[in-house]
Amino acid sequence: MTTNSEQDRWSRVKGRLRSSVGDDVYSSWFARMDLESVQQESVRLSVPTTFLKSWIQAHYAERVLSCFQAEMPEVHRIDLTVRSPARCLTPAVKEIPSVALDARRAERAEGRPIELRSTAIAPVSASHDALGGSPLDPRLTFASFVVGRSNTLAHAAARQVAEGRRGDAVMFNPLYIHSGVGLGKTHLLQAVTWAGNASGERKVLYLTAEKFMYGFVAALKTQTALAFKEALRGIDVLVIDDLQFLQGKSTQAEFCHTLNALIDAGRQVVIAADRPPSDLESLDDRVRSRLAGGLVVEMGALVEELRLGILKQRVAAARAHHASFDVPEPVLDYLARTITHNGRDLEGAINRLLAHSKLNAQPVTLEMAEREVRDLIRPQEPKRIKIEDIQRVVARQYNVSRSDLLSSRRTANVVRPRQVAMYLAKTLTLRSLPEIGRRFGGRDHTTVLHAVRKIEALVAKDTTLSEEVESLKRQLQE
Ligand code: ADP
Ligand code: MG
Repeated sequence: MTTNSEQDRWSRVKGRLRSSVGDDVYSSWFARMDLESVQQESVRLSVPTTFLKSWIQAHYAERVLSCFQAEMPEVHRIDLTVRSPARCLTPAVKEIPSVALDARRAERAEGRPIELRSTAIAPVSASHDALGGSPLDPRLTFASFVVGRSNTLAHAAARQVAEGRRGDAVMFNPLYIHSGVGLGKTHLLQAVTWAGNASGERKVLYLTAEKFMYGFVAALKTQTALAFKEALRGIDVLVIDDLQFLQGKSTQAEFCHTLNALIDAGRQVVIAADRPPSDLESLDDRVRSRLAGGLVVEMGALVEELRLGILKQRVAAARAHHASFDVPEPVLDYLARTITHNGRDLEGAINRLLAHSKLNAQPVTLEMAEREVRDLIRPQEPKRIKIEDIQRVVARQYNVSRSDLLSSRRTANVVRPRQVAMYLAKTLTLRSLPEIGRRFGGRDHTTVLHAVRKIEALVAKDTTLSEEVESLKRQLQE
C-alpha cells in the first residue's frame, strides 16, 4: 500500500524519469511500471513482465535510483518485481508439444509415413504455407532452445513476442536479433513462429530474406494495391530471417513499405541478421533507423556451459529414438571444450557420433570422439571488434561520454579521444572510412583519414600516447 504523498512523489519521480530518458524510451519501458511500496530506504516497483524487469535492471537501474533520490534522498535500494499479469484470465498461448514434433520428424527421417498426432500442427502449417512462408524445422522450438548468459535477453524478448495476443500493445517493434553465424538466430525465430501459430489466434509468417525477395515481393507486385493491403492485414507477426541478404532497390522499397505498414498497424515484426542495423550498409538510412528504433539485441558467442547444454539437449533428442545411444560425460565435456565455433558444429558432432556408433554397433568413447570430430575443431577466431565497443572503451579511458565523441564539440579534451577512437576503428575493424565517419556522428571520410594519420604520427613519437593506444587495443581484444 502506498500513501497519497508517496503517490505524489512517485508521479514526480516518473516525470523526472521521462525527461531524463525521453518520451519514446519512457513509454517503451516505464509506462507500465507501478509503485508497490516504500519502506524507509527501499522502494518496491513492479512491471508486468519478466522481460521488462530484466531490461530495466540491465539498462536503467541507476537512472531509476537517481530519479528517486532526487525526490526521496533516503532511498538507497530499488526492488523490481513482476506483478501477476491480468492476462492470466485468458488461457495462455500453448506451445506445440515438442515430443509430438520430434516424433514426426523422426518418422520422416526413418522413411515412414508421417502421421500428425497433434491437431495443433495442422493449422500451423496450413496458415503459414498459405501465406507463402519459408519451411519450418519442427525441431526448432522454445522447448529445445537452451538459454545461457549470451542469449538470455534475446530469448526473453522472443518469448514475449510469441506470447503476445492479437490486440495486445506491441512493446518493441521491430525486435531485431543479431549474432554471428550458428548462434541460434534461426532457431529462435522459428520457435517464435511455431509458438505464435500454435494458438491459432495469430498468424505468424516466417520468411527468409531470400523468400521475401523472390516470393513475397513478386507475389505482391502482381497484385493490386488493395490485395497488397489485404495480404498484410492477415499477418499479425512477420518474421524475417537473414536480413543481410536483402538486396536490390525495389526489394528494399517493398521491404520498407511492408515494415512501415505493419509497424504502423501495430503488428509485430521480428528480424534476424548477422550484424546490427547500423552495419547493414546496403540499406538506406530510413530503413536502418526504423530497424534500430525497436529493440536491438545481440546474441554473443556460445559459452562453454551453453555448449554443454546444447550437446546434452541433442543427445537427449537422439536417445528418444535410439535408446542405446549414449555419450559419456567426459566425451561431452571434451566436445563442449573443443568445439567452440557454433551450434551447427555441435549438432554435427552428435550426428557423427550417432552415425558411427550405430553403423559399427560400438559405444561412444573419447578416442572415437577425438577421431570423428577432428575437423570441427577450429583455431580460435580473433574477436570481432565493434565500433561501439571502441567508442565505449575510449570514452571510459579519457573520461568523456560516448555522445561527446559523436558530437561536434571541438575542445581538446574531446578531439584527441575522438581521433584515437577513429584510429582504432580503422585499425581494428574492417569498416571503410566513410562508414566510420558515419558512425562518428556523420563525419566526412576525410576527417577520419585526417584523424588516422594524426594518431599514426603521434604514436610514433609520443610514448605516453602510444602506451595508451596499446592498452586500449588490449582491452578491446581481450
Ligand atoms: P543462426 O541462424 O544464428 O546461424 P541457427 O539458429 O541455425 O543459427 O543455429 C545453428 C544450430 O545450433 C541449430 O542446430 C540450432 O538448433 C543450434 N543452436 C544454436 N543455439 C542454440 C541454443 N541456444 N539452444 C539449442 N540449440 C541451439
Ligand atoms: Mg540462420
